[in-house]
Amino acid sequence: MSVLMIFVDGVGIGDDNPAVNPFARARTRHLVAASGVPDRPELRAGVLVVPTDATLGVDGLPQSASGQTTLLTGINAARQVGRHVHGFCTKALAGILDGASLFARVRREGGRVTFANAYTPEFFRGERRFLSVTTVAMKQAGLPFRDLDDLARGEAVFHDITNRDVRERGYHVPEVHPEEAGRRLARLALSHDFTMYEHFQTDQAGHARDMDRAVLLLEQLDLLLDGVLGASDPDELLVVMTSDHGNVEDLTTRTHTKNPVPTMLWGTGREAVAREIRTLADVAPALLRYLRKRGAINGADHA
Ligand SMILES: [Zn+2]
Repeated sequence: MSVLMIFVDGVGIGDDNPAVNPFARARTRHLVAASGVPDRPELRAGVLVVPTDATLGVDGLPQSASGQTTLLTGINAARQVGRHVHGFCTKALAGILDGASLFARVRREGGRVTFANAYTPEFFRGERRFLSVTTVAMKQAGLPFRDLDDLARGEAVFHDITNRDVRERGYHVPEVHPEEAGRRLARLALSHDFTMYEHFQTDQAGHARDMDRAVLLLEQLDLLLDGVLGASDPDELLVVMTSDHGNVEDLTTRTHTKNPVPTMLWGTGREAVAREIRTLADVAPALLRYLRKRGAINGADHA
């Protein structure tokens, strides 16, 4: 039994209004979930959607770095540092993540862990000054990063799903159809106990208030999901898609929103996981409990 966490930046549950919400426009099979605000887990078109609080009881608009740290650790990072932290990982957030991320904890309990995203040579040459929360958590856990060779072999997925972005930067990697990217992601996830994949262009489309781009990205994500779900057995893979804060679901504003984010679940046993989730801080503990219950990890780390 494996868990695949698909993290999608800047996706909240908005009004079912095609004038402002790309979810209400995109032609999707799986992402139908994100319009209207249910107040409890709800099954929609086969998708179990859990409205998940991202404000974390802290004033101001929720932001990526603190939200992602919270998602990865189960610790309310915004409350701990006293504010929502945007962008990249800070020293304070790195302190919260160290030893406490899902990567570190699943690994300590004997689980096989991977981050499916491919990194470019600039990263390996140490040219990135600012690192994402996930990157820092991976480094702290001593886990290897996937590179463009892995990507070319079909053993990684680029953050933009299709590889168009990395090709535009001059790297010779074949373009990939989103469904095929999804099948590759499923293969990786099935050979590990916990796999994470990250996509953040949705947040960029929200900041740009770009409806056409947002619709295209959601349709691409939906095809990715199609590939993942088509290539895996629901008894073998729990798929959890979630976000750090709202943004793209309301294109009336350039900023993030305080809307709940949709945590969407596919796979056997998802109801028990869904019942435990109210806020971003509930996701990591719910997934750890699930992996222990299913025997994927040994529970040795459980206090
Ligand atoms: Zn943002």
